[in-house]
Amino acid sequence: MPDTRYLVITDLDGTLLDHHTYQWQAAQPALDWLQEKQIPVVINTSKTRAEVIELQHALNINAPAIVENGSAIFLPKTLITSLQNADWQENQSSYFRVLGKTRQHILERLHELRDKNNWKFEGFADWSVEQIVDATRLPTEDAKRASAREYSEALSWFGDDNSLQAFQTQLREEGFQVLRGGRFIHVLGQSNKGLASLVLKDFYAQQWHTLASTIILGDGPNDRDMLEVADIPVAVKSPVNDFPEINHASVFYTHAFGPEGWNEAISHFKTSII
Ligand SMILES: [Mg+2]
Repeated sequence: MPDTRYLVITDLDGTLLDHHTYQWQAAQPALDWLQEKQIPVVINTSKTRAEVIELQHALNINAPAIVENGSAIFLPKTLITSLQNADWQENQSSYFRVLGKTRQHILERLHELRDKNNWKFEGFADWSVEQIVDATRLPTEDAKRASAREYSEALSWFGDDNSLQAFQTQLREEGFQVLRGGRFIHVLGQSNKGLASLVLKDFYAQQWHTLASTIILGDGPNDRDMLEVADIPVAVKSPVNDFPEINHASVFYTHAFGPEGWNEAISHFKTSII
């Protein structure tokens, strides 16, 4: 039997970060233990690469990351020194693989369709930093990182419901995803957190020359696809929504909320993953 090595893949908001305070200290014992055992902690989030890098520094995590709802995977060059594979591109600091569509591609099509149909919407690309600060109610530096989108566009709709319906239908027919978030409508390519998790798991199996097993933690409906492809799915209790419905034979449901639940789950599986 080949050995199995584990990797942890986690959502941020409401999972590793407290839903209200964005603090993670309750999960610090588990994070320390994972680091000691050299088990990677991969952030998998709707946030941008700029936001994730900031959080990785704060959390002292040096690991790959999956950004913008599964649109791209980044492998820092501090971990992977060379990678000869046509699926991966490189920039100064990382190797990266795009599973969705680039923002440039998304914006070109959005703007063509807006002109042609006279659709009433505006997105981050249309706004100044001040306008993005107003719309997101984030502090300026956070708003800049949130607006540094590379694989999706966030927009506000100002037209009527019928035109919004037409917009969604048109974009979906052209192979885009249209997701209704709390504050914005998000347009992106056809990837998701689950698909990206599987790609990264395969990457690790090749890298390690072992079986790779995943412990995946999430709290909300947009984590469902990644929880369903997990070897060990962990549904973290949320103060604002019920556990997502997960089609999987064995799900660990935490008793505690957010980072405390995160810590609880990793503690629970400690003896089975070393
Ligand atoms: Mg969440």
